[in-house]
Amino acid sequence: MTQQRLDPLPTDWSRALAVVAHPDDLEYGAAAAVAAWTDGGREVVYLLATRGEAGIDSLPPAECAPLREREQRASAAVVGVRTVEFLDHRDGVIEYGTALRRDIAAAIRRHRPELVVTLNYRDTWGGVAWNTPDHRAVGRATLDAVADAGNRWIFPELTEQGLEPWGGVRWSAVAGSDRPTHAVDATAGFERSVRSLLEHRTYIEALTEEAPEKYCRSFLEGMVRAEAERFGGRPAVTFEVFAH
Ligand SMILES: [Zn+2]
Repeated sequence: MTQQRLDPLPTDWSRALAVVAHPDDLEYGAAAAVAAWTDGGREVVYLLATRGEAGIDSLPPAECAPLREREQRASAAVVGVRTVEFLDHRDGVIEYGTALRRDIAAAIRRHRPELVVTLNYRDTWGGVAWNTPDHRAVGRATLDAVADAGNRWIFPELTEQGLEPWGGVRWSAVAGSDRPTHAVDATAGFERSVRSLLEHRTYIEALTEEAPEKYCRSFLEGMVRAEAERFGGRPAVTFEVFAH
């Protein structure tokens, strides 16, 4: 049963860590919320499992990785995010498992966020399109790593490395979920979210024949309008939220 009204995502926090598989994952929707958060003086860190090196058919991975890393850093800067980290798992073949959970748990312990953001971990996008294995793996591992980060005994090697347990994550918020519970008003951050997606120019030019600016704007307009009715008519970036 779908809940009718989307609740505003809590704002009484100061640090967030957003964990996704690829450069551009956060720009396809979540960046408008990130802009609103950083406007409010909150710190948001991006953690990417890969450099997206398998994302452009015409570019071999060794050339693609540094380019996509640059585009991701520029894209993050547009919405006020200065720290972007990469775990260097291999694009396209990220494996869900303890290695991935440990890497994400280590980042949670390093950055000590109250909010963890990730992307759709389900098999499909709303039952319409099949999701990618990378998104499923990273989404699920991120949700799992919240508990791992707080438990001294699950990855004792992290404590030995000086990373003390962090049990301070209060919420996980999943972007791109077909069962959203919460939303962030996209009004203030919308224009920056368009520019932020547009920073992935090489990727987008390889993806579509459409003019990049037009493509980014119309995609993101569709996203923020999709659930506006459930959020008082306001453009909405939606999240499925789990409280911890
Ligand atoms: Zn992706």
